[in-house]
Amino acid sequence: MTKDFTCIICPNGCEIRAELQDNKIISITGNTCDKGADYVTQELTAPKRTVTSSVTVLNGELPLASVRTSGPVPKERIFDVMAEIRKVSLTAPVEAGTVVISDVLGCGCDVIVTKAVSRS
Ligand code: SF4
Repeated sequence: MTKDFTCIICPNGCEIRAELQDNKIISITGNTCDKGADYVTQELTAPKRTVTSSVTVLNGELPLASVRTSGPVPKERIFDVMAEIRKVSLTAPVEAGTVVISDVLGCGCDVIVTKAVSRS
């Protein structure tokens, strides 16, 4: 069986093909560098994603502040991370870079504010 990927690690967007046999990776071709092979290997074995969302802000010029995880989290934990983010409520002013959840669910990533919100 073969699986095709578009590498998202850099703007080159190399088209990469992985050949699998009995769920084992036999070959990876089309990558221009090792990062592409690492990306495909991770996608096939333990896919991860950066989570982006927003949290409620009280007394702010905006009702929400955008947040994201500081790194990718395991794909199967995304909904659990979103549930943790929904529990957060901040009070303005909120600074960009503020850690709102440290080491969310033990994933090794923080949830950080990506856009400042001033007091209303
Ligand atoms: S394989 Fe390497 S060069 Fe190609 S898109 Fe991925 S990171 Fe970029």
